Amino acid sequence: MNKQTVLVTGGSGYLASWIVNDLLELGHDVRITVRNQANRRKYEHLLKREQETSGTLTVFEADLLREGSFDEAVEGCSLVFHTASPFTIAGIKNPQEELIQPAVQGTLNVLNAVNQSDTVRRVVQTSSVAAIYGDNCELKNKEAFTEADWNETSTSSHQPYSFSKTLAEKEAVKMGREQNQWDLIRINPSLVLGPSLTRRKDSTSIAAILSFLDGSYQMGVPDYTTGFVDVRDVATAEITAGFSESAAGRYIVSAGETSLIRIAETLETIFPARFPLPKRVIPKLLFWLVGPHYGFTRKVVSRNAGYPLRFNNRRSIDELGITYHNLTEILHDQVEQLAHDGLLDQAK
Ligand code: NAP
Repeated sequence: MNKQTVLVTGGSGYLASWIVNDLLELGHDVRITVRNQANRRKYEHLLKREQETSGTLTVFEADLLREGSFDEAVEGCSLVFHTASPFTIAGIKNPQEELIQPAVQGTLNVLNAVNQSDTVRRVVQTSSVAAIYGDNCELKNKEAFTEADWNETSTSSHQPYSFSKTLAEKEAVKMGREQNQWDLIRINPSLVLGPSLTRRKDSTSIAAILSFLDGSYQMGVPDYTTGFVDVRDVATAEITAGFSESAAGRYIVSAGETSLIRIAETLETIFPARFPLPKRVIPKLLFWLVGPHYGFTRKVVSRNAGYPLRFNNRRSIDELGITYHNLTEILHDQVEQLAHDGLLDQAK
């Protein structure tokens, strides 16, 4: 693989850090954008990786909402991984400001910068399965959701994060079609789990597992099924999609599906009697009653609790060659990392 100049937007995030890590290991000149360059704590793990690898790292400051702020970072790159986007599911007060504007306006700003450069040949956008379906009840008689499906039910008041990802991916597709300098690949992961390279606890994927470990769900977990995938596998999929001649279109990146109680049972099997894990499933009616207290509207509960979910991940296996970590490996490695980084002692 020839050495290339590559940008990762939101480079200090949970997923982006693995993409940057792998690019540095491959020896590329890696640029990242962060919101606040003065906050070195957020990206010092990447500066350390730069010292240990043959790649180089350059840090730029950019905000999704600031027009033109990606221009300098993009100019001169051949490949752009656009991962920056707010990922928050519960407790959203102003969906437009907190999720939709940064996701959509940010995509627009990044792709405008790409259009202005005469160097970028490919953009890999981190979308989500949230842009593929809205609620679990939509699976109906279908065997599994595929790349042909689009989320048609989320709005700014119902599943606003999913809405933000759907609009952002559609914006990228539209802008991709309006030019012929670069092509667009979209990676659509399910819930990303696994070890983090950062000690941050504010990423939703990290907070989600900490909530299992710190007793937050001791009363039980809802009857809810989610797709899951290892963060390292998503990074591999992104990078393969970025450099493979034949990659095209959209890729669901998901290892499988699990109920929340199976996550708890798997953690208990790996780490017997170590954490105050949930032991029971909260009946749907009770979840429906208390859901709003935990940031889940009754509509979300009605349309998701108790419904199965399945994704078809064939394209990612056949075309990107992904060999997925299983749930036990993912949870083992994530908890070991949290313990190693001293983040469990601070839990709750
Ligand atoms: P994360 O750790 O919270 O990373 C989000 C990144 O977006 C951070 O680097 C953050 O920058 C940046 N960002 C947020 N608002 C911004 C703004 N206004 N301007 C510039 N940057 C901004 O979350 P993640 O899990 O790694 O998510 C990365 C991508 O994967 C997102 O596009 C997300 O939608 C997608 N995704 C995640 C999952 C999952 O389960 N984690 C699943 C499917 C898709 P700061 O470092 O400055 O905060």
